[in-house]
Amino acid sequence: MTTTAFLGLGAMGAPMAAHLARRAHETGGRALVWNRTPGRAEAHATAHGSHAAALEEAAGADLIFTCLPTSAEVDGLIGALEARLRPGTLWVDCTSGHPEAAPRQRGRLAARGVRFLDAPVSGGTGGAEAGTLTVMVGGPQDEVEAARPHLAFAGPVVRVGDTGAGFAVKAVNNALLAANLWAAGEGLATLVRAGVDAGAALEVINASSGRSNATQTLIPQRVLTREFPATFALGLLAKDAGIALDLVQAGKGSAPVLAQVAGLTRAAAQVVGPEQDHTAALKLVEAFNGVEIK
Ligand code: NDP
Repeated sequence: MTTTAFLGLGAMGAPMAAHLARRAHETGGRALVWNRTPGRAEAHATAHGSHAAALEEAAGADLIFTCLPTSAEVDGLIGALEARLRPGTLWVDCTSGHPEAAPRQRGRLAARGVRFLDAPVSGGTGGAEAGTLTVMVGGPQDEVEAARPHLAFAGPVVRVGDTGAGFAVKAVNNALLAANLWAAGEGLATLVRAGVDAGAALEVINASSGRSNATQTLIPQRVLTREFPATFALGLLAKDAGIALDLVQAGKGSAPVLAQVAGLTRAAAQVVGPEQDHTAALKLVEAFNGVEIK
């Protein structure tokens, strides 16, 4: 019987943990959940049949999953659980963390006989609910294979390299998301200023070579509607773009576009608010141009 523990029932963690609970019901396992604000864990147990657990109980699980804002909060939980962890446990960190944190976290857990994989996810809250998240994993092949059957929330699971590589790929993916979003926003604001309807422009762009997930999904569903539903916080996107920039600097590379996008996304989070949806970054582009994208 496999016992999983999911720590961090936020916008992503709650639906991901629901898939683990469903799997546990099918296989006779146990799915524990823990959240800093305990009411969320109790609500999860009621809604999904998971078991709201104390942190000490979660420490005994075969697999521990985390999905927290940054690697700093994961460090905090490693510190809180360290003394109680069991050798053989596999810790799968689905946070969009920092590549420099991963080897340190892995080393700290290895001292307890616990394995660690950086396994951030992509696909948003919709992908988490559907159980189709893309998982990019850093760590030894045999440990990735040990984790794979338990990733009930996943679509594609790709081992991208050694420890830290998962976090690195995730940061670059989200820097590209930020770049596509920002560039599409500038292009559309320019067109609106020229008297073109943004919806008509998107219809063409999405049947042409300038399209991206930003033009096909995010802007039509969130910006044109003026809904900006807060499913992925702008502050978290700014964090990811900043991690990508750290990676550029650590590798002594040159990526001026990514640097620009990291700065712009951080500025948007400051001005618009870090808790706003990431697409609300385009409100800053709109302010720069004195128009609404519509
Ligand atoms: P949320 O803000 O919705 O949830 C954050 C979770 O972390 C909550 O459960 C919160 O608990 C918990 N938490 C915060 N601080 C601490 C702490 N100090 N100690 C313990 N628990 C803490 O974030 P998301 O679910 O959106 O994001 C989680 C991770 O997933 C981030 O790294 C993000 O970048 C990434 N991600 C997000 C996506 C999205 O679409 N939202 C998509 C892909 C990746 P509490 O309930 O008490 O506040």
